[in-house]
Amino acid sequence: MNIHEYQAKEILKNFGLPVLKGKSYNKKIDTLEIDIADLKGPPWVVKSQIHAGGRGAGHFKDSFNDKGGVQVIFEKDKVFSIATSMMGNVLITKQTGETGKRVNRIFIEEGCDIEREFYLSLLVDRNNSKVMMMISAAGGMDIEEVAATNPEKIINIYFTKYTDITLDENLQTKLEITKNQFDELTLIINKLLDAFTSIDASTIEINPLVLNKQDSFVVLDAKISLDDNALFRHPEIAELKDLTEEDPLELQAAEHNMNYVKLDGSIGCMVNGAGLAMATMDIIKQFGEEPANFLDLGGTANKDRVIMGFKTIQSDPNVKSILINIFGGIIHCDMIANGIIEAVKELDFKLPLVVRFQGTNAKEGKDIINNSDLGLISIDDFTEAAKKVVELAKV
Ligand code: GDP
Ligand code: MN
Repeated sequence: MNIHEYQAKEILKNFGLPVLKGKSYNKKIDTLEIDIADLKGPPWVVKSQIHAGGRGAGHFKDSFNDKGGVQVIFEKDKVFSIATSMMGNVLITKQTGETGKRVNRIFIEEGCDIEREFYLSLLVDRNNSKVMMMISAAGGMDIEEVAATNPEKIINIYFTKYTDITLDENLQTKLEITKNQFDELTLIINKLLDAFTSIDASTIEINPLVLNKQDSFVVLDAKISLDDNALFRHPEIAELKDLTEEDPLELQAAEHNMNYVKLDGSIGCMVNGAGLAMATMDIIKQFGEEPANFLDLGGTANKDRVIMGFKTIQSDPNVKSILINIFGGIIHCDMIANGIIEAVKELDFKLPLVVRFQGTNAKEGKDIINNSDLGLISIDDFTEAAKKVVELAKV
């Protein structure tokens, strides 16, 4: 799960990290009342809150000035108009793709006199089963660019413990900072590690970590991703989920206890069991097409869930054909077959459909599909079924 910058900063503040004072707004434009009397300025910084980076260098679909999704403003009376122009507007950045993301939240922060910009992130390195820190004096700008063109400017450090850590002194030299700054940085990294482990984060990225003109470090931007599997331990963080940032189809499927992940291909898959779903995706790729989704109906799939699955797949305009691959264990294939027929009729479903049944009542299920007069195709063999659905996607 990802959270917004303003939420990430609120969390980091509680762990003693230096963040600037700010206020977040999510009201509709006509009721937006901004009060920045208690924020030090000028300047103030108006920041679009979307789950994507590169905001500063991005642009708005409905453009109102030549700046991006992060704007430093020196005139107090302009803060309101800029915030209003951002709210509800669509921000396009390197990370959002051409469609961009609607800005539903604005964060207004006290400005900061930047002396230097560093990059600092913590992440779980699965290959080494350790938390890794990436740090660089080339922060602020596009770190992916730095990684591609000057990888030596990014220093990777692995931690073997997460409290009371000390850093090798050559890091001070590499970052070209003073002893005092190095000590302050060490303190910040300790606090960040505390935050990271306490909230079960999978990434915390600070870009930039600023050294201001008063010679203190400030967390100027913060991105936190959390481990979904540990969210149950942090109900107060789970609540921060912004549903407007989630894929609506994935949300809808989750409400019905189905596991749906939207992908970019053209073949819709409806399968029971995660392993079979993976195998189904693999075989589609093997025959040269790409799956449009991962959809696991679950081991206790029933008719309602099949209908819901159809609705979910149907709302994806990229889907050209569908493969339903069901292994009847606890669930019976004939029951699923009836669900398919009902769904096709109810939704007036027109896309080509290949059904493969194996296991409990597979024969009965197949008969139902073959006798339906709906033009559904039933194929027993996995390979043949996959070939057929790929072929149908191409016509
Ligand atoms: P991102 O583009 O989505 O990563 O958004 P950031 O929050 O990192 O902001 C982009 C850039 O705006 C930063 O790298 C800074 O250079 C600049 N910026 C952000 N806040 C301030 C500020 O308070 N003062 C000044 N001068 N620049 C800022
Ligand atoms: Mn940033």
